[in-house]
Parts: sequence; structure tokens; C-alpha cells
Amino acid sequence: MKKKICILYTGGTIGMVPTDKGYAPKKGYFHDAISSIDDLKGEGMPDWDMIEFEPLLDSSNIAVEQWNQIGRAIRDNYDTYDGFVVLHGTDTMAYTASALSFMLEGLNKPVVVTGSQIPLCQLRSDARDNLITSVFIAGQGIVREVSLYFGGRLLRGNRSTKASADGLIAFDSPNYHPLAEAGIDIKYNTAELFEPASDAVFSLTEFSQTSIGVLKVFPGIQFSLFESIMTESLKGIVLETFGAGNIPSYDNALLPIIKKAFEHGTIITVCSQCQQGTVKLGAYETSSALTRAGAVSGYNMTTEAAVAKLYYLFSLNLPKEEIKAKMEEDLRGELTK
Ligand code: ASP
Repeated sequence: MKKKICILYTGGTIGMVPTDKGYAPKKGYFHDAISSIDDLKGEGMPDWDMIEFEPLLDSSNIAVEQWNQIGRAIRDNYDTYDGFVVLHGTDTMAYTASALSFMLEGLNKPVVVTGSQIPLCQLRSDARDNLITSVFIAGQGIVREVSLYFGGRLLRGNRSTKASADGLIAFDSPNYHPLAEAGIDIKYNTAELFEPASDAVFSLTEFSQTSIGVLKVFPGIQFSLFESIMTESLKGIVLETFGAGNIPSYDNALLPIIKKAFEHGTIITVCSQCQQGTVKLGAYETSSALTRAGAVSGYNMTTEAAVAKLYYLFSLNLPKEEIKAKMEEDLRGELTK
């Protein structure tokens, strides 16, 4: 029987049209635009329907409420379709792909997030291939996790990061192999795919609004300036450190602040500013103090995945100690220890 895919159109460049203020999404236009693409009805393609979100957004405006809206659309249509393609702006696509990977517990169908750098209506657009191949991959049903397709590669959603503001191969997965590469054939890395537990039941965890921060350390940083944000209301913070998890130790300034934040109950997750490699707390004197101050290692998680994971764990209302432990655990293939 022919597979059936649900395309969730949230906005982004892919469906934008030129206006006098720059590119913007246009209500009610995209369904007709893609219906005229013969390849989307071609031999070997699944059938598809499209749900257009209201309002259509530039993905810079996507936040928790829109993630919940996408999650609900997948949950409500889960039994009707064999897979989902989420059309999204590229700017926050890696955050959304990460968020969906945590929200969709026990997922056992493909969810492919994609978009384009050039709108479908423009010359040399990358939208056609990104859309057609995403729908095709979702129809094949081999990768049953949240993935991101862009520029010929299928990446694990929670390992992806936007690496180019203008290149057509805009996303990278610096710490994990692509799940598939689309050349003449689509070559799947079947050994690298995420397998949900055999007894896993599909469910959606909606995210709640949680105060989360990201702090990037840089040479000369005056930590005292950040002291005022480290209050009880800051639930989690991703600390983007140098290399394998190092922070400046001059004036011993950051540690008392981190310690204070930890005592307030803030979960401090240490990620690296390096795209590739992993945080190893304790490898240097400049990082071992972070563990003593109560921080947890994000290992080789992207900042996008760490932010999404904090939202997720806080939405489960777990005790602090459990959130801390789970930040260091691999829940959806997002980190390697
Ligand atoms: N600003 C756009 C967005 O993220 C960029 C894009 O889609 O490529 O919605």
C-alpha cells in the first residue's frame, strides 16, 4: 500500500516570497506551489497532505509554544500517517529538531525537518531537492527518529547545527555520522540509527516555559557582570566553555558564581565552543573546579541539544538531582560519553 506523509508547514525561507520589506511567508500560497511539482507525485513517492500553520513564521520567532504546536500536530496525526516532514526556517531548525527529538517519546515513525536557503519561487532554489528528498525519505520509513535533511545529507536532528549562513549545505553534524547520504541512491547508515526501546509507547511531552540561559565564555570575560542573572529564577544554564570544558581561572571569579547558582538549584551544563570533540571535566585544572562547583558535563552535545534537553527535563517536573543525572545520560542519541 502507498505510504502517506503529512507535511507540516511552519514557515521559513522555503515558502517565502519577496516583499518590499524582504522575504516573508505568504498565507495560503505554498500548497498550490508544491502541488505543481510533478516529482512530488512521481512513481515511488508517497501520497502526502499538507497542514499550514497559522501564523507562518520566520523561524527566528519560533519558541516553546510553536514547538508544542508542531508536537501536537504530530501526536494528533500519528496514527493517520506513516511519517512527517516539518518545513521550517533554517535559523532555528537545529533547535527545533533537537526539541522534537526529546518531546516525541517512543517515536517509531520518520520525522524529517527541512527547509531551504533560497525560496522555492526563486531561481536556483534548493527547496525542490530538500522537499522532494525529505518526503521520499519519510516515505521509505527506514529512519524512524527526528532527522534533519539538507543539502544531500540526512542528519540526526539533535546532532545538527546550522554551520553556514549562505551555503546550500547549511547544516553539519560534527559529532555524529550522517544518517544517510543522498547521491544517485540514498545510502543509509543503518548501523547509526536510533532504535526506540521495543516496549516504548509513543507520547508527547509538551514543553513548559522555563528560564534557561546560554553563556559563552571568552578571554577577558568579567564574570561579575553575569552575577545578577544567576538567581533562583534561572533554572538551567548552558556554559559554552573553551576546548574540553575549560574556563578562565583568573581572579577565581566564575566559580563562586557557579557555586551560588548551583546552590540556588540552577542546572549548569558544560558544553564546548569547539564544534567537534567532547567536554572532559577534570582533564585540566581549569575545568575540574567546575565539577566541584556542581556543574554537569554536556559531553559532545550541541548547544542546541543541551538547551532543548533542559526544556524537556524541566517539563517533566523531575527532582533536581534526576535532571542533573539525565543531562549526562544519552536519552535520544544526542551525546556520546
Ligand atoms: N530567517 C529564515 C528563517 O529561519 C531563514 C531561512 O529559513 O533560511 O525562517
